[in-house]
Amino acid sequence: MDYKILFREKICSICVDSDANGKCLLSDDEICAIEAYLPKIVKIVKNLENKTIDECCKVLKDEICSRCANNKDFNCKLSNEANCALERYFPYIAEVLLSAEN
Ligand code: SF4
Ligand code: SF4
Repeated sequence: MDYKILFREKICSICVDSDANGKCLLSDDEICAIEAYLPKIVKIVKNLENKTIDECCKVLKDEICSRCANNKDFNCKLSNEANCALERYFPYIAEVLLSAEN
């Protein structure tokens, strides 16, 4: 499965940082955490034992935010400003990936 295409269809299309056609509007110096961590996100969800949306969100946040360069001493400016697409859409990302596995 091409997860980049899946995410473009399912997540970019509803993201507040996209235009009406789902085209990303981030500037060249902004990085989308979903794109940056996509392989890792997919791997984490595939390896989950308890495949529920809540568990999926918790593990994604634990595993990715804790190692993200934007996380300074457990404080992320993008998160505080609701400006990280990954954090904004954790539950929806979990739902999309869990559905794709079935
Ligand atoms: S910020 Fe990320 S999820 Fe949102 S439109 Fe851009 S690439 Fe897609
Ligand atoms: S919320 Fe912050 S720490 Fe978590 S992935 Fe997004 S930018 Fe990184």
